[in-house]
Amino acid sequence: MFQVKGWNLKNDKNIALGGVSEKKKNKKNKSKKKTEITNDQIDDVINPSKEKSKDQKKDKSKPNDLKDKKLKTNDLSKDSSKTEIKEVKKSKNQKKRKHNDEEEQQNNPDQIDSKTTKRSKSVAKAVSTTTIPKATIETSKSQPIPITSQTKLTPLQQKMMSKLSGSRFRWINEQLYTITSEEALKLIKEQPSLFDEYHSGFRSQVSNWPENPVDVFVNQFKNRLLTRNINAPGGLPGNKDRKIIVADMGCGEAQFSQDITKFIRQQQQQKQKFKNLKVEINSFDLKKQNEYITVADIKNVPLEDESCSIVIFCLALMGTNFLDFIKEAYRILQPRGELWIAEIKSRFSEKPEEEQENVENSKVGQEFVDALKLNGFFHKSTDNSNKMFTRFEFFKPSQDVLAERKAKLERKKKFIEEETEKEKLESKRETHPEGEWLLKPCIYKRR
Ligand code: SAH
Repeated sequence: MFQVKGWNLKNDKNIALGGVSEKKKNKKNKSKKKTEITNDQIDDVINPSKEKSKDQKKDKSKPNDLKDKKLKTNDLSKDSSKTEIKEVKKSKNQKKRKHNDEEEQQNNPDQIDSKTTKRSKSVAKAVSTTTIPKATIETSKSQPIPITSQTKLTPLQQKMMSKLSGSRFRWINEQLYTITSEEALKLIKEQPSLFDEYHSGFRSQVSNWPENPVDVFVNQFKNRLLTRNINAPGGLPGNKDRKIIVADMGCGEAQFSQDITKFIRQQQQQKQKFKNLKVEINSFDLKKQNEYITVADIKNVPLEDESCSIVIFCLALMGTNFLDFIKEAYRILQPRGELWIAEIKSRFSEKPEEEQENVENSKVGQEFVDALKLNGFFHKSTDNSNKMFTRFEFFKPSQDVLAERKAKLERKKKFIEEETEKEKLESKRETHPEGEWLLKPCIYKRR
């Protein structure tokens, strides 16, 4: 699911999924190129006590679930700002330390959830536990090299660091797609640095794309504002006072708000007609990364019913319960309010990439569109022209349209009921002619 086009997932083996690292499979290849950092090397840095699997094999008396526990130990609570890197070589001391750790865990089995098989549960557990799981990048007790902006890393170390942050990004990304929004909020609340790590990876991914979807939304906003009146056909939707109120759900670093705020200020300085323009942008995400952002789970944002004229989800339908976000958008949108969505293209297709080309554009994401329609939205357009993402526009119908739609449904229901009755009548006539029961024969009595 995460091997999406553009999400450059080359070293999946090393994604620190709960600290589970795949065993050294490629030992042979290891010696091929000396300068290239292998996944195993990275893994050694991420998880210097990797030799433990050997130790565990030796120690056959240890119960299985304990071994699992050991493997599941993850680095969720790791604060990257405190990251220290150590030499790849493993010291004897490490083995000793690891042994001690195992004993510690045996004495305190509650620290790790061995029975939980679902990843989401293990995340929740890792989040809720107050114990700090063993960091996968261990602090070197001998010669720590704190990584700060001033730290001069050798080219090899730089390469390793970049591979490492790539793995971390992919891991956090996978978490956010496979846990519920409540769990995501909790995860980032407890470990805010994960948000920073995620966004530095996210930025670097999107910078490789031909176009950033946020820019597409920003440009659309600007164009429609400059070329049409608010609430006019083709113009941006505003409330009764022609105020445009936007909710940017899962805003990341609030780029939309920052760009539009800047643009509006410029316009107001330059053009008389924009002097009284009112635009309010509410940006929501899991961490308050800057002053534009309000922390909220986008399933439940602090806005009144029908208070927004535009709701945006730009690559933000993460979380296993994302239809709750759509319901929330419906709640906060005013009638005739617009819903703008951009999502990674490959999320809409189960077909392999080579077959995707043949899918008719308007049909892309049809199941997704249908699900939104069932939640009350009207579909306006699908734009599949971008290489990396698909854009959708929906709107919340006006009260009139809703009333008309309801009446139409009622008529349809009534029609179906009538047709059913008709069928019943005809089938009854087949066995009992109407002359026998519908109108009784009028027989004259003999006088
Ligand atoms: N819209 C921004 C960021 C996209 S990354 C952009 O396009 O640049 C997706 C963002 O959604 C992340 O910042 C993540 O933290 C946020 N997110 C995911 N689930 C969320 C939730 N339940 N509530 C709030 N934000 C969420």
